[in-house]
Amino acid sequence: MDWQFDNSYVRDLPGTWLRQRPAAAPAPQLLLLNTALAAELRLDPVALQPIAADVFSGNRLPEGADPVAQAYAGHQFGGFSPQLGDGRALLLGEVVDIHGQRRDIALKGSGRTPFSRGGDGLAAIGPVLREYIMGEAMQALGVPTSRALATVRTGAHVQRDRVLPGAVLTRVAASHIRIGTFEFFHARGQADQVRRLADYAIARHHPQAAGAENPYLAFFDAVIAVQARLIAQWMGLGFIHGVMNTDNMTISGETIDYGPCAFMESYAPGTVFSSIDRQGRYAYANQPLILGWNLARLAETLVALFDPDEERAIDLANGRLDGIAGQYQAAWLQVMRGKLALAGEDPGDAALIADFLSLLQGADWTLGFRRLAEAVSDPGHLRPLLADPAALEGWLPRWRARLAPDAPARLRAANPIYIPRNFKVEEALAAAEGGDLAPVQQLLQVLADPFTERPGLEAYALPAPAAFAGSFRTF
Ligand code: AMP
Ligand code: MG
Ligand code: MG
Repeated sequence: MDWQFDNSYVRDLPGTWLRQRPAAAPAPQLLLLNTALAAELRLDPVALQPIAADVFSGNRLPEGADPVAQAYAGHQFGGFSPQLGDGRALLLGEVVDIHGQRRDIALKGSGRTPFSRGGDGLAAIGPVLREYIMGEAMQALGVPTSRALATVRTGAHVQRDRVLPGAVLTRVAASHIRIGTFEFFHARGQADQVRRLADYAIARHHPQAAGAENPYLAFFDAVIAVQARLIAQWMGLGFIHGVMNTDNMTISGETIDYGPCAFMESYAPGTVFSSIDRQGRYAYANQPLILGWNLARLAETLVALFDPDEERAIDLANGRLDGIAGQYQAAWLQVMRGKLALAGEDPGDAALIADFLSLLQGADWTLGFRRLAEAVSDPGHLRPLLADPAALEGWLPRWRARLAPDAPARLRAANPIYIPRNFKVEEALAAAEGGDLAPVQQLLQVLADPFTERPGLEAYALPAPAAFAGSFRTF
């Protein structure tokens, strides 16, 4: 089978990676193969099937693969770690997909690397399947995201708070270049390497910047734009990433590294699911602020490229950073106008949206928006979700006056009925750990078409029982 690897990162950026072979998996067993994604990558799913367990466990390297661990640094919960890197991941190589897009294919959980520090280099089946589910859900919801090509059980045991079955995730991403990749070289004073990395990232992700008067500034602008749009989409869906460290923020604008992430159910701006996020740094409502904070860390690595004159360069960087809040706000308004099916733009939209969000406090985020489709004519389904249903009466006429034509259809196309609800995800993962993959497969099927309400799937649309919802933690 010909994978047609073309490994530009390894070729063009020596000094940013270390070669490393995957560890042997004792008894690999294929759990999931994403045949739709395989086809997109020009891989023949039929030819893949018999070799999938070996290939996606790392036991057999596909022809043309050149596995490397990538170096990166990162600010984790605000503190700088000068050396993180792929401690349990390996980039196998890149392929150009049927749309002409270059995509990384990487293993995660395939053993120790020179960047592993104290870690075992492994991944457990639960988090691996979680990342698979979340990536597919985000893809179907229209959010730029890394995706899973396959999941394999390795037959190894992984020691966490208890012993768990080991697994490997094969991850596909536009690239794995992170803000932390730039920070790694900047912190070591390797200005040439920062420039080479920027040139590479421009060519691969933001080629329009190359033709700009100031390409590096245009590149920074492009990263701001894709990241602002991405976080606005997260906010619209109630998605909480959970670890918005700079090593988990891509230059491409894709969501990456689904760890303790989760979708908010009952709307509360301070929602945190990750038990490692004790201060609530990455709480739902903080994500836009962290966007700006992370982009400031990127600016620090690029500022010398903005202008040979240091003072001018700093002014340029500060000007961009000052604009981020406004750019995010514009991206968010666009998302929220879509979710409310507003016609065009009106100066009163921000207040109209804010007032709906007040009504929604404590109600199920996803259903609250979804039930707007009926509320165009009959708020009978929406009212019982709200803490103060009477307050809806004042808001409804203001909203209806702003509606776009064909509003119910637009509302159903913008607001999903199915999201990966935490208790359904946990239920499916528990079954998979015990050897039953059917609930995971069923969940993936539901999430593949999140905007079309189907009979028989009520359990996937309902909020978690209160006892579960109140105690749910992802880590
Ligand atoms: P994350 O929290 O997943 O973004 O990872 C942060 C850093 O820890 C990265 O450098 C990872 O490669 C590394 N890491 C996470 N888990 C492991 C593990 N089990 N073994 C080795 N390195 C790990
Ligand atoms: Mg990470
Ligand atoms: Mg991770």
